[in-house]
Amino acid sequence: MTKTWNFGAGPAVMPKSVLIKAQKELVDYKGTGMSVMELSHRSKEFDDIINTAEANLRKLMNIPSNYKVLFLQGGATTQFSSVFLNLVGDDLSRPCDYMVSGGWSDKAAAEAKKLGANVNYVFNTKSEGFTRIPPKSEWKLSPNASYLYFCDNETVHGVEFQEVPEVNCPIVCDMSSNILSRPVDVSKFDLIMAGAQKNIGPAGLTIVIIKEDLIGTRLNPKVPCPILLNYKTHANNRSLYNTPPTFGIYMAGLVFEWLLSIGGVEAISAINSRKAQRLYSTINKFSNTYKAVVAEDCRSRMNVPFRVIDASGKPSKELEAEFLKGAVARHMVQLKGHRSVGGIRASIYNAMSEEGVEYLCRYMEEFARQKA
Ligand code: PMP
Repeated sequence: MTKTWNFGAGPAVMPKSVLIKAQKELVDYKGTGMSVMELSHRSKEFDDIINTAEANLRKLMNIPSNYKVLFLQGGATTQFSSVFLNLVGDDLSRPCDYMVSGGWSDKAAAEAKKLGANVNYVFNTKSEGFTRIPPKSEWKLSPNASYLYFCDNETVHGVEFQEVPEVNCPIVCDMSSNILSRPVDVSKFDLIMAGAQKNIGPAGLTIVIIKEDLIGTRLNPKVPCPILLNYKTHANNRSLYNTPPTFGIYMAGLVFEWLLSIGGVEAISAINSRKAQRLYSTINKFSNTYKAVVAEDCRSRMNVPFRVIDASGKPSKELEAEFLKGAVARHMVQLKGHRSVGGIRASIYNAMSEEGVEYLCRYMEEFARQKA
């Protein structure tokens, strides 16, 4: 089998042992003579799958008992609408605070605005190319916001919060690309959402972790909430109101088991720190060839964007194309930066091993020496 190092931003690399287990069980799940894909979502077998996945996620993230875990469809993008429709509250004119630190929070704010939200930008670094998180002194928080929204890790721009903002309104966080990568105190959040296709499993599943007192209590009849976007629908039916993404939930369950088996979030966090450290220090060490784009105090540990520069220090599309070509020849794929920003982006999620990052760094060293 070809060894491929997948640095894609999502869908992303999965733990090999998880894929092997899924392969073993693919056509006959625990003696049922059926694949998980063929099981009814109302069967005893599937009930065990979803309950175990939830219990293991609760264990991994230490989720308090007054939070519900919802297994949904529609991707994180659907949550851009759901968040506003469920949390707007009685008064439509009340501001909804958005911290815009990258392309995804920008999209979330735009969607809320389209649905009628009075969006207040706490900050928006778009004009600077999304390369920093402004200090608190620059934040323009509303005194009476319906909620504060932020994206913990901007997948495209590689900007990651290092702490949870402290405010006196509900806090909503998009953790799509760094959930389970480091310990978080769930009780500091009111709603956490994440598309699965980075650190959880295959695309098609979206997880929402929501404090119970926000469920069904802040809807507004002036902006009706479609039944499938209403958190109450899913909370009241244990995510089984309609057919959930059954196979995705099964795969997520296997990933949670894998993560527990290697020591949980604390253990993977230490590994993730070492990986990010190795990669950023390679970029810094060969500063005649590579340039990190994000301010040092908010560099992502999951998505590492950088440029390949020419002798004058300017990003060079030609050198980047050459770098990517050499990477592919060495079986390192999906290193191309997002189409909106260009350059290189190495996504180094939980399932990317230290060995993979080491392999990439060795290639970067070799490429830089060749160009020197
Ligand atoms: N938020 C973040 C941080 C993301 O990385 C992505 C997708 N890469 C999204 C939202 C949108 O997710 P989806 O494609 O699942 O709708």
